[in-house]
Amino acid sequence: MVKPVRAYKLPFMGQQITVKILPQKKMTDNDLLGEFLLDSHEIHLVETLPRSARRATLSHELFHAFLAYSGYNQIIDGIHPNMEEALCRAFEHCIGNMLYYPSKIEEWLNGE
Ligand SMILES: [Zn+2]
Repeated sequence: MVKPVRAYKLPFMGQQITVKILPQKKMTDNDLLGEFLLDSHEIHLVETLPRSARRATLSHELFHAFLAYSGYNQIIDGIHPNMEEALCRAFEHCIGNMLYYPSKIEEWLNGE
């Protein structure tokens, strides 16, 4: 069990996702800035991610969670192998920074 730097419990689509900020070496892939793990209902954000990018990255990972929990990931899987990632990136860049999160998670993302 990896001890997170910090963790936040986020209710989402009837699940409780634990958002953790972790050192890069604890991510499943060293190139990742964020990741969603369906089995453990966790989102990991790398601790070196600038605070200004945390909201958009969280939005990106929550879109992965949305696709998984809704079953859309299985529908789009056969269209193109990069379809899910492309959708999550589009969501992150177009909408991610415009989303409002409850003030508690905004403060948490900013390390307050
Ligand atoms: Zn992604």
